[in-house]
Order: sequence, then structure tokens, then C-alpha cells
Amino acid sequence: MTEVTPGIHWIKLPIDDARGPSHINAYLVRGDVGYLLVDSGWNTDSSFGTLHNTLVKIGVGFEEISQILVTHVHPDHYGMAGRIKKLSGATIAMHPIEKDFIEPRYVHMEELLHQTDRMLVDNGVPRDEMEKLRDATVGLEQFIDPTPPDITLRDGDTITTGEFTFRVIWTPGHSSGHICLYEPDKKILLSGDHILPKITPNISVHPQSIENPLGRYIESLKELRQLNVELILPGHDQPFTGFAPRIDEIIHHHELRNREILSVMGDQARTTYQIAREIIWGVNSRWHDLPEFHQRMAVFETLAHLEMMAAESRIDKLPGKGIIYYRQN
Ligand SMILES: [Zn+2]
Ligand SMILES: [Zn+2]
Repeated sequence: MTEVTPGIHWIKLPIDDARGPSHINAYLVRGDVGYLLVDSGWNTDSSFGTLHNTLVKIGVGFEEISQILVTHVHPDHYGMAGRIKKLSGATIAMHPIEKDFIEPRYVHMEELLHQTDRMLVDNGVPRDEMEKLRDATVGLEQFIDPTPPDITLRDGDTITTGEFTFRVIWTPGHSSGHICLYEPDKKILLSGDHILPKITPNISVHPQSIENPLGRYIESLKELRQLNVELILPGHDQPFTGFAPRIDEIIHHHELRNREILSVMGDQARTTYQIAREIIWGVNSRWHDLPEFHQRMAVFETLAHLEMMAAESRIDKLPGKGIIYYRQN
């Protein structure tokens, strides 16, 4: 049974990349004239095959999908949206900030690579390590059919489909234009990568992120916590309950990481890179155990914590000769 709650089907699509979660969840919401598909999976044959087979099982044809909503444009959530649009004629909708990421991230990447290069060096990554960190995401664009949205959605907009009226909630942090869908009558939240049941989503400072993304993320979690939510339909893992306790856990996790960073920092001025190398990552992993893709995430996640603590005046940011240092005040 794929119907996780009346009118909403849960579709698990495989992700063919060992560096992250094994699958992404798409949700198909029944409407009066057509279905709404929330998130799309990578644009790979195995993902497409799984989607196709699941739709056959449910008894829905591609032509019955009338809207595709993209929570954010990471390859696992957005990659196949264009391919599904071509088959169905569905409209694609997303937040305008995500729309602006498509071209520089997946079509003409030179400028973004240049900005990433500079950001890594400014944050203390040695020149001889910078290149492999900078290029760690090159190649992901092959899993994306870069198609612009037909509709942009902002915080507070509503989407009505069948018996559901979803409120769009802008939830910046994991991606600057990330959105969640909230159904207040049914007390359901489609949470994308904003709130996941077990893993904490990656919150990074990178050249395209908004200022203080971790601070914005925590703020957004605290606002969401006020909502009456009984069922969370996340972008990875499985649907779950226990909304407020999970939010508290995520906020607590980030505070523990803040404290770990402060203890690594001691009373010295340190760069983001120096700190990231001394943090315990994941389940007891050290810097040297991490693949380059995760080393880069480690640097940018550490930076997100440092920027948040600097914004809260818990530490000082010391821009020096190009290289940025942070120090406890
Ligand atoms: Zn994501
Ligand atoms: Zn994801």
C-alpha cells in the first residue's frame, strides 16, 4: 500500500549515489482534475522506472499529473521534474529563490565554481586541498533536467487540490528557497528536507546561501513548532509523528555542535577549516575518514555554525588578510 493517508501516496525513489540517503520520497496527492506530485527524484533510468512502476500500481497515468511542486532544487528533489513535465504537461512550481539557482548551478557553473574556490580559500582551506573540495559536486548536473518553473510560490500562498488546501511555508536553511506544505485541517506537513525523522539536514554557508542560514533555519523551526501537525511526510526516510519533540531534538543537536566548536576553538583565533578538521562528524568519523564531498560539507557546515554564533555575538569574526578567523569573545 502506497497510500500513507487518504488521498496521498508515498512513492520511494532510489538515489544512485552512495554519498547520501538511499532514497527520496515523492508524494502524489489526489485532486479533482489531476494529481499534484511533490518532489520528483533524480533524473536516472532507475528512478524513472520506479516512478513509472509505482504509478502503474496506483493506477495513475503520467498524463493525470497536473502539478509538480519542488520543495527545493537539489538533484534528488528536482532532477526528474522536467522529464515528468514533458510526459504529463504538468506545471512546475517552486520558490523564486530556487528558480534562480537552476541556471548558475546546473547550466553555466563556471562562476559558482570560482566563488566556491574563493570561499574555501578565505576560510582557510590550503590551496592544494581546495580543488578537490571545490569540484566535489561537479557531475551532479547529469542527474538533472534543468527546466524552469511555470509558477513561483511564496510564503503564505495556497495550493488547492481535491480535498486538500496546502499553505506554502518558506523554510530557508537547508536551501535558501526551501518550502514546506502545510494542510491545517488534516494536520499534515510535507516537510521536504527541512525536518527529517532521523538525520539532521545539512545546513551550509555556500556562495548561494542567504546570510546566516543556520540562524534562519532554527528560527524557521521555532515558527513551525507552533503549528498543529500530526503527520509529517518528509523527503527522506519515512513518514512520522512526534512533530514538536523532533524539532526540539534538531535544535538541541545544533546547540551541541556549537558547544563542540567552541571547545575546539579554545582561546585561539581559528579558521573554519582548522575547526572542521577537529570535529567528530557523523558516527565517530574524523576529517581524514571523510570523502571529499563530505569534507566540503564539513567546512561549510562548520562555517554555518560560526556565522550563526558571530551573528549572536557569541564569537568574533576577524577578517584578516583574505583569510577569515573566528575567536571567542
Ligand atoms: Zn536537499
Ligand atoms: Zn534531499
